[in-house]
Amino acid sequence: MFSITDEPLPQELVGDSSQQLAASEHRALLTLIGARPYLLVSEPIEDVQHFAVGSLDILVPLDSTFLTASQLSVASTQNITAIMDADAQVILSSSNPLEIEAGTPLSALRNRYVLTMQSFSDYRDSDLNMLYATLMPKALFQQTGQAILDLERRQRAMGAAGIIGTFVLLFVLVSSRINRSLRRLQDFARRALGESLTPLPQSGNRLMQLDDRIHDVIDLVLRARDETRSRHESEMRQLEALRAGVMEASVDSIVTVDADGMVIDFNPTAQRAFARTLEEATGRRLAEMVFEEGSAQYFQSLLERLAESGSIDNEFTRVELTATDGEGGRRSMEVAIRPIVLDRRTLFTVYLCDIQERKEREVEMRALAAFPEESPSPVLRINSRGVITYANAPSAALLEYWQCQPLQTLPVYWREKVDEVLQTGHDRELEINTDKGIYSLLLTPVQGLGYVNVYARDVTDQRRAEDALQQRQDELVHVARLSTMGEMSTGIAHELNQPLSAIVNFSNGCARRLRLGIGTEEELLSALSQISEQANRAAEIIKRLRALVTRQHLVRHEVDVNHLISEVCKLLAHDLRKLEIAVERRLYSDALIVCADTVQIEQALINLVRNALDAMKDQPALERRLRIGSGIAHNGMVYISVEDSGVGIRSSDMEHLFDAFYTTKDTGMGMGLAITQTIIEDHHGMIHAESWPGKGGTFTIELPRNVETPESLAS
Ligand code: ADP
Repeated sequence: MFSITDEPLPQELVGDSSQQLAASEHRALLTLIGARPYLLVSEPIEDVQHFAVGSLDILVPLDSTFLTASQLSVASTQNITAIMDADAQVILSSSNPLEIEAGTPLSALRNRYVLTMQSFSDYRDSDLNMLYATLMPKALFQQTGQAILDLERRQRAMGAAGIIGTFVLLFVLVSSRINRSLRRLQDFARRALGESLTPLPQSGNRLMQLDDRIHDVIDLVLRARDETRSRHESEMRQLEALRAGVMEASVDSIVTVDADGMVIDFNPTAQRAFARTLEEATGRRLAEMVFEEGSAQYFQSLLERLAESGSIDNEFTRVELTATDGEGGRRSMEVAIRPIVLDRRTLFTVYLCDIQERKEREVEMRALAAFPEESPSPVLRINSRGVITYANAPSAALLEYWQCQPLQTLPVYWREKVDEVLQTGHDRELEINTDKGIYSLLLTPVQGLGYVNVYARDVTDQRRAEDALQQRQDELVHVARLSTMGEMSTGIAHELNQPLSAIVNFSNGCARRLRLGIGTEEELLSALSQISEQANRAAEIIKRLRALVTRQHLVRHEVDVNHLISEVCKLLAHDLRKLEIAVERRLYSDALIVCADTVQIEQALINLVRNALDAMKDQPALERRLRIGSGIAHNGMVYISVEDSGVGIRSSDMEHLFDAFYTTKDTGMGMGLAITQTIIEDHHGMIHAESWPGKGGTFTIELPRNVETPESLAS
């Protein structure tokens, strides 16, 4: 054994190394050599044949150098490490032998140091119970403890600050979330419930405010729910009442049937229509109760089809079927079927509407619509813009006259007429003279629809006949006048004789005076003036006669009836004088204007007066009375009455008075009254007679009081 260090081997090992050599396996042990602790590591050495030839022993003194080196891992240099004998409780060596020298008992150190110990458990072969001890000066320990406490406090403070910071951050986040939630609650309350919550306070505990708001909103929601529920219930009740009302009031029969067509329910209309109560009808087939055989089968098959298809939509299936009315009659029915699902059962609501009358009306309407087509006269329809919207075939002549076709516009003049009729709302009759004939057009407004119906009549033949009649009448009137002239000729001659005699007398008187040279110039001039006056009178009489005799076309103008009466009296003056009749005139105080042909009305009046004179000619002179009156009748017409005290008219003659050629006179023609009636009716007037046989009679003429313009009458 030898040393490879400067330090010599302990004395105890120099002489005897056999113990160590004997070691034939690896060993490590702690041991005391010469009271100094050592670590002894022994490793056997073998030759090539694996025979033990020795051992490598490493001896490490556990002295202050070792301990100082091992102390490097210890935090503080003020700590002291030491090897101690656990059994002897003494220090074997220390890192700071100056402070703690070997052999110091442990008890001597406990006051000054805090002691921690560690056993050398790896060194099983040691013959010593050595411990590795760390000794920390108590002052250092307390100092370190204080430092640790400070450190801990600082760490705690920092931890607390961190936590507080985190909490503040969290609080800010939560607070903004709460704010947002509060605003959403406000919005929700306003939008969903239609109510606004009280505005949010600017400050305060948001969490508590949120809590309050949530309660508020919950209250509002509950209240809204209750209100909605009660409103819904009330709506349901109203709906039910309405449904019941509709069912009651419906003019259609409404029946609920199952998929087999069995009646489940129906409304009062159906009850009346079927003449059965609900109890009587329930469970019976609707089709058999209502429809005739073919329709019943069709209805049943339709129900089956609908039930099989299983489609539940709100569409109605509509069909037209024939029902029996229970008395052998048949009626058309419009049937609408709609499937409904009730408790997972498919039922059908069937609406039955009696359309018999409607169909009959439709047929009637169609027939009516065909009416204008079938009409032999022109029928047209013109809209408010003057467009011909309809014209039947006979309207061709009118269309040709207007030079337009259906759906074309009428000429301006006719458009204006259509417009006038629509404006006034009154019918208007117009006449047109086409190449094909004369048409009378009746324009009838249909104001609600804004068009005018034109019903035309071909009046060509009628007008020709009227013209011929008029011509004949004119001739007749002329003949009558000539006849009147003849009858009046004596009187007229006498009338003329008077002025002519006067002229002769005056002219003879003048001649005589001139011959004898007597008489003044004034006397001669006066006589000449008388001659002139009498000549005028004669000329006037002749003028009247000429007017009466000349055949004239109708010319009407405004004339005073009282004036006409005076003229007639003048014309008949001779006859009146001859019969010693003084005409009693009871005339209307004002002028009575009528629109008339003077000559014709005079002719009529002459006829009446002459008849009156004829009726009185056999009466004693004193009993002859002729009264001519005028005035306004109750109906607003102007009347002229000629009343005589003659023989009167027998009631049997009354009905024939106005017949042509009816006369009771020996020399009469029987045309006077017939012509008079024609003249008056031509003037839109009328004539009638009253009589008191033996006492006289009255003839009254009534004429319209200047209501129409001369032009319109002339047409
Ligand atoms: P005529 O004078 O030529 O007979 P009219 O037509 O004037 O024809 O008269 C028809 C008849 O009516 C007369 O014949 C007469 O019998 C009767 N008649 C007309 N006027 C009167 C009258 N004022 N009083 C009595 N009879 C009258």
